[in-house]
Amino acid sequence: MRFVVSLALTIVVVFIITDVIRELQNELLAQAITDPLTGAYNRRQMEFSLDEAVERHLRTNAPASVLLIDIDHFKRINDDMGHDTGDRVLKALVLLIKNRSRKLDRLFRMGGEEFLLYLPDTPAAAAMIQAENLRNRVAEASMAKGRQVTVSIGVADLARDLGRDQWIKLADNALYQAKETGRNRVVRAEPALAEDDDAGADSDDRRSRQRLS
Ligand code: GH3
Ligand code: MG
Ligand code: MG
Repeated sequence: MRFVVSLALTIVVVFIITDVIRELQNELLAQAITDPLTGAYNRRQMEFSLDEAVERHLRTNAPASVLLIDIDHFKRINDDMGHDTGDRVLKALVLLIKNRSRKLDRLFRMGGEEFLLYLPDTPAAAAMIQAENLRNRVAEASMAKGRQVTVSIGVADLARDLGRDQWIKLADNALYQAKETGRNRVVRAEPALAEDDDAGADSDDRRSRQRLS
């Protein structure tokens, strides 16, 4: 009888310990792949996901798009309203985007106030509609008391001859155009712009905006 009781107790304890370990493992995994402030996936995960998308596209020709989303004049929000408000805006933006995304869409924080939304099985035209919708929702939302927050978005779809970095570069060029033409805008990438080299004033300017840092 005593043996049975201690065996049962041992089993219960082992189950509890295994459960705790599993939870810790899950927590560690989540920490390794997400940005701690916003909960969006981190840059490294973005690289894995987009590499996979490129591979899949080569095999199946399935369409895919990315939205590169950058908050307009975010520095001013920090300067005028404080860093904590800035942090709250970042979290609110991520929540808004996640709430309006499909299950398989994935949001990554590229750095600072720049995010990439990966839309699998989505051609450019549909991605443009999604981007325009997001842009509108952000402009209408109240994220920082009494102050309108807007985003600029560059949209690029995947083509056969593109690698991961070229694909992001296309979206980055489109984002740059959106900023240049007044912000609070969505611009679709011109495939020819992918060939842009890194030299020149535009690229320097882009780097100065902490592109992809
Ligand atoms: P633009 O419209 O051209 O994108 O201008 P911007 O002010 O949004 O861009 P800029 O790159 O000049 O400034 C980005 C700012 O984002 C500067 C940096 O201090 C702030 N920032 C970066 N990461 C964080 C963060 O985690 N929290 C807060 N509150 N601010 C951050
Ligand atoms: Mg910005
Ligand atoms: Mg930025």
